[in-house]
Amino acid sequence: RLLLGFLRPLGSRFPWAAGLALGVWGGTGPVGKAFPIAHTHVSPPAKFTCPKRSTHMAIQRTFSIIKPDATKRNLTGAINAKFEAAGLRIVAQKRIHLTKAQAGVFYEVHKERPFYDELCEFMASEPIVVQVLEGEDAIAKNSEVMGATNPAEADEGTIRKEFALSIGENSVHGSDAPETAAVEIAYFFAGLELVG
Ligand code: ADP
Ligand code: MG
Repeated sequence: RLLLGFLRPLGSRFPWAAGLALGVWGGTGPVGKAFPIAHTHVSPPAKFTCPKRSTHMAIQRTFSIIKPDATKRNLTGAINAKFEAAGLRIVAQKRIHLTKAQAGVFYEVHKERPFYDELCEFMASEPIVVQVLEGEDAIAKNSEVMGATNPAEADEGTIRKEFALSIGENSVHGSDAPETAAVEIAYFFAGLELVG
C-alpha cells in the first residue's frame, strides 16, 4: 500500500512512465514469461528471403602454389590462364623463394612420408608463386583443373597432364579442404593482401 501510495501521484503526473514500466514488466518480467505468446517471432516478409538459397553454391577461397618446376619453365601465365578459364579468380598472388625449413612447415602433414625430404628440397629449389583463388566451389574446381597428383593418371586438359614432369615435380599445389585452405592462406598472406 505504501508503494501504491507513492506511485499513484507519479502515475497521474507521468502516465507514460507507468505504461513504460508495465511494458517492460510485462515484456521481460513475470507476465511476459507466463504468456510467451506476446513474443511470437515475426518472420521477415518473403521478399527478403533468398528464393534460390538451397541451390546456391558457396563462393570459396583456396590456396594454390605454382611449383618450382613450373616457374623455372616460365609457365606461370599458362597455368594462370587455366585457372581463369575455369572461372577461378586470382585474388592474391606473389612470387617468393622458400627456405627448406619454410617448405618443411608447409608440408608438415607429410613429414612421415618417404618423399618428405625430397619434396622440401624441391619446393625450396627455385621461386614459387603463391596465390589465393576464389570462385564457386573453388576447392573442388581447382582440384579438377589441377588433375591427379601423378601426371600419368591426370585427365586430358588438366594442368598436371599438360605441364607436370613427375609425381613429385607436378607443377601445382591446391588445398584439399576448407580447413586446410584457411591455414595455408594464413601461412602466406595477410588479410589485407586478399583483394576479392
Ligand atoms: P596433392 O598435391 O595432389 O595433394 P599429396 O598431398 O599426396 O598430393 O602430396 C603432396 C605433394 O608431395 C605432391 O603434390 C607431390 O609434389 C609430392 N609427392 C606425392 N607423392 C609423391 C611421391 N610418391 N614421390 C615424390 N613426391 C611425391
Ligand atoms: Mg595434398
